[in-house]
Amino acid sequence: MGKYVIAGNWKMNKTPAEAVELIEAIKPLVKDATCDVVVGVPFVDLPAALEAVKGSKIGVAAQNCHWEKSGAYTGEISAEMLKAMEVGYVILGHSERRTYFGDTDVTVQKRMRAALDAGLTVILCVGEYLEQREQGITGEIVAMQTKVALGGVSEEELARVIIAYEPVWAIGTGRTATAEQANEVCAQIRDVIAGLYNAEAAKAVTIQYGGSMNAANAAELLAQSDVDGGLIGGASLKPADFATIVAAAK
Ligand code: PEP
Repeated sequence: MGKYVIAGNWKMNKTPAEAVELIEAIKPLVKDATCDVVVGVPFVDLPAALEAVKGSKIGVAAQNCHWEKSGAYTGEISAEMLKAMEVGYVILGHSERRTYFGDTDVTVQKRMRAALDAGLTVILCVGEYLEQREQGITGEIVAMQTKVALGGVSEEELARVIIAYEPVWAIGTGRTATAEQANEVCAQIRDVIAGLYNAEAAKAVTIQYGGSMNAANAAELLAQSDVDGGLIGGASLKPADFATIVAAAK
């Protein structure tokens, strides 16, 4: 895994056929990428997406996984199942999972354990609600989310964890954090990693910003000292915009 990672989160969009079409459109546009490029697709699109990215540098992510290997968990998908399909990445703790589907810091930690045990690379999402930012507790919130999720994660395993700072108020709203706000919180997360592990691990860890990143604002956000990439929702469904963001990640 390189230091800079641009990952698309397609959310609940695209059928398998549409996923192939989108990947085929993205592929030539990112062939000279100097960062890692990932597309986070719905579960049912995984087989088609894995086939479509063959021969390219694009990695494929699932958008969640369960913590048990198998069992009576109707509607769930395990990390082991993703591993068996040779999926490389999984997004965990996205704010939409936390807000709409009851994910908590503790369940994110359990999913993290299962994903790392299965050999996956995790994109761990953390971020504050607007009320929390207004209360001045953003640092505490993201520190808590990061610390709980990384509970029991070794320094060696941390090499397979990407952290995405995603202020909830900026996701899908068109309201982006300023470059200074994004950098400040990414730096705070890096300090948390230094405290949990050491300075070397903190320097090495990839910390993305996510929240209405687009072709117009990506260069400024990605130029910040502590922003090592982006997790992109809406703009990742537009090949040219996604490619512009990828090109801005140097
Ligand atoms: C996301 O889904 O992680 C995200 C950042 O979405 P958007 O870019 O649409 O705000």
